[in-house]
Formats: sequence, C-alpha cells, structure tokens
Amino acid sequence: MSERSARQVWETALGELQVEVSRPNFRTWLSGTVGLSFQGDDFVVGVPNAFVAEFLEKNMRSLVEKVLTGLARRSVKVSFCVGSHDDRPARSRKDRPLLNPRYTFDSFVVGQSNMMARAAAEKVAAEPGQTYNPLFIHGGAGLGKTHLLHAIGHSAQSRELDVLCVSAEQFTNELVRAIRESSTDDFRRKYRSVDVLLVDDVQFFGGKEQTKENFFHTFNALHASGRQIVVTSDSPPQSIPQFQERLRSRFQWGLVADLKPPGFDTRRAILEAKTERDGIKIAPDVVELIALQIKQNIRVLEGSLNRVVAYCQLMKGLVTPELAARALADIASMEVPPTPPTPAMITEAVATSFQVTLSDLKGRKRDEATARARHVSAYLMRQETECSLAEIGRELGNRSPATISHANSRIADNISHDPQLRRQVFNIQQTIHAAAGAGRA
Ligand code: ADP
Ligand code: MG
Repeated sequence: MSERSARQVWETALGELQVEVSRPNFRTWLSGTVGLSFQGDDFVVGVPNAFVAEFLEKNMRSLVEKVLTGLARRSVKVSFCVGSHDDRPARSRKDRPLLNPRYTFDSFVVGQSNMMARAAAEKVAAEPGQTYNPLFIHGGAGLGKTHLLHAIGHSAQSRELDVLCVSAEQFTNELVRAIRESSTDDFRRKYRSVDVLLVDDVQFFGGKEQTKENFFHTFNALHASGRQIVVTSDSPPQSIPQFQERLRSRFQWGLVADLKPPGFDTRRAILEAKTERDGIKIAPDVVELIALQIKQNIRVLEGSLNRVVAYCQLMKGLVTPELAARALADIASMEVPPTPPTPAMITEAVATSFQVTLSDLKGRKRDEATARARHVSAYLMRQETECSLAEIGRELGNRSPATISHANSRIADNISHDPQLRRQVFNIQQTIHAAAGAGRA
C-alpha cells in the first residue's frame, strides 16, 4: 500500500486513539507521529525520537494494534521507527539525544531544596563551557537529577548546540561494543565532537577501570576545548570511593550542586503543577494530605497522586479527603519500600514452572522448552526488576542486550494471543511476588 494511504490510516487511528488515552499522554507520545508504510500486515509508525519509540513499544503497542486491526479488518502488527516520512535528516546529526520531553526547566518546580542546582543548570545551559565546567549534580533517588540534566539538554538543543545525553551505563556499553568491534575511533569521534555532554548516574562507573579511564580522557578532551560537561550521581564526588583521585578532582573543578529532599511547600507545588498539567480535578486538602505524607522521593510523590486518583476512580467517588485518606492508608502500608524481586528469584520460579534446570536456563541449550523458559525469564526481569538489558543478559548466561530485548518483545507479543502462556506467566509472577514479600518481612 502506498505511503499516502498509510498516512491516512494512521490519521484515522489517531482519531480513535485520542479517545482511548489521556490528553497529556496523547500530546506527549502520539501527537508527533506519522504513518510511514503499510505493507501486508506490517504497519510502520514514524516517531520523533527513540525515547518515544521505546515508550510506545512498551506501553501502547497492543492498544495501537487493536485500533489498527479494527480499521484494517485484519490482524496488524505495528512497529515504531524513528524518523519522519520525508528523508530530511531529523536534525543535522544522527544521534539525537534521548531527552524526555517532559523534563524541561519550565516543568521543574523550584524550592529551597533545589534552587542552587537549578540556577547552576540554567547557567550552564545558557553559556555552555563558560561558567561551571563541569557541573556535578548529586542527590538521592527521585529528587530530579535526570529531570535537570534533560532540561539542560533541551535548552542547549533549542539553540542548535550539539548535545549528547547518555547514562553512564550506555557510555559503558557503547565503549565495550566499540572495543569489541574495533571501532573506538568512531566512539571517540562521537563523544569528543559535541558541544554539551550530559552523563547520568556516573556512580555506575564504579569499579570499571577501563570505562573510567576512557571517560577521563573524553572529559579532558572536551574540557580543554571549552565544551560543557554535566554529570549526575547519587553521591558527591568525594564519596564515590571507587573513583580515583584524578577523576574525583576533575569533578570538583567546576561546581558541585546537590538536590535535597523538598520541603512541604515544594512538594505541594510539585503536586499542583502535576494536577494542572494532567487536567486532574482534586481538592486542595487532598493535595496537602499527600504532600504531608510523602517526603523523600518526588517519583513516589507523583506516584501517590496517581494512586489516589486511580483509587477514587475505582471507587467511583469524587476525590474527597475521606476517600484519599483511605487510599493513602493503602499507600502508607505500601510505602515500606517493596523489595523488588531479584533476578535469582525470577530464574528460580521460571525454571521450576518450565521444569528446566537453572544451568540449562543460563546455558546454551536451545530446545523449545529451555528457550521458552529463557525468554520468559528475560521478559519477567524486564517487567519486575529495574535491571537493564545488559544486566539481564549477564544474568542469563552472558547474552547480548539485543537478544534480551528480542526475547522480551517476543514474549510480550506471545502473551497477548496465547492464553495458556499468559496464565503460566501470571502464576510465575504470583510466586515471585510471594517470595519478594517474604523477603520484606
Ligand atoms: P532522579 O534522576 O534524581 O532519580 P528524576 O529526575 O527521575 O529523579 O525525577 C523523578 C520524578 O520527579 C520525575 O518525574 C521528575 O519529573 C519529578 N521531579 C523531580 N524534581 C522535580 C521538580 N523540582 N519539579 C517537578 N518535578 C520534579
Ligand atoms: Mg535519574
């Protein structure tokens, strides 16, 4: 089918999707997409960047397929592909940074706890390489490090600067791949040619000597030529014991700024900003109730608001303080940080369910049952843990991130039309949760 009809089909699909998803979600994830091609059963949707592609793949693929299948009156498989219908390069460079569109300076609420980090971030975004270089942002989980980092990226990018934003883990993985494929020149060129380099969670470098060595040289090269470097970490430079002195002192050359847990007023302001943005109607005393209870982590704060709203919808009630208090009681009991299931719990439960041994699961056997069990393990680790594809690959007998990603999508896909597999996976999940719950007590 022609490109033109793919576009028309997608326009119609968007009309239906607009009804199915919330307005903010639609605006963030779907509004910039375009129908690229429709051949056989395969529909390709063009999306503006890899971040959107990953989100849609993970969260909306089955809904999108349902809508397209309904329109085409045959089963349609969708894939999300970065790029637009015309072949103009999306930008001048091919590696567009994966910046979360929500993480901007505008949406970052300022308070005592983050004022200095925020001001420093705006300063380096406005005058990269000229004031604080590097800027080192540190703080506990969920306090806005990634948000600020991406805000710098958006701001610099809007002024046509070349921005590269990676997690320390991505940096490491790319380096390892470059070494394996003897393409370290490309790696070096990529990292040493940008105006602004943003590296998230550098504590991840930990004891990885070769990575640190390489990052050290990248740092020096960029710094010497006046490019801006911003890094984030869960602790200040002097408290990352595995960093050698020379790296530690590099990080202290510029400015070290921290993010503290926000005070009550800031927590309330963050919740208000979120209700406004998402069009949530909620009484001020309910917002206050939530802001009073959740203190340490803004991600949890936002999650709690979502839960209160969802709870009230389920109970078909207005969001009243009474109902919210009940929902919060639930949350408060959940607030004991749930121990996430470990990869070991998952492999064990899967091996039992599929009746394969652990060593086969992590080994090279490729018969159907073993392969299936391995794929399901990959899928569940994606679902149930915070492990990266690389870490999962290591857990499952040193398999590549691409293999894991493939296994994951395959099971996600199979589950949607194989009720028996769905039941089996569900049962395994129950087992894992029971095991994780027992670990908590
Ligand atoms: P970290 O990287 O420090 O773990 P994130 O940057 O991922 O934390 O922030 C967690 C969540 O909290 C994100 O949804 C982010 O948008 C939100 N958030 C953090 N700080 C603020 C802030 N000052 N104003 C608004 N939202 C914030
Ligand atoms: Mg982060």
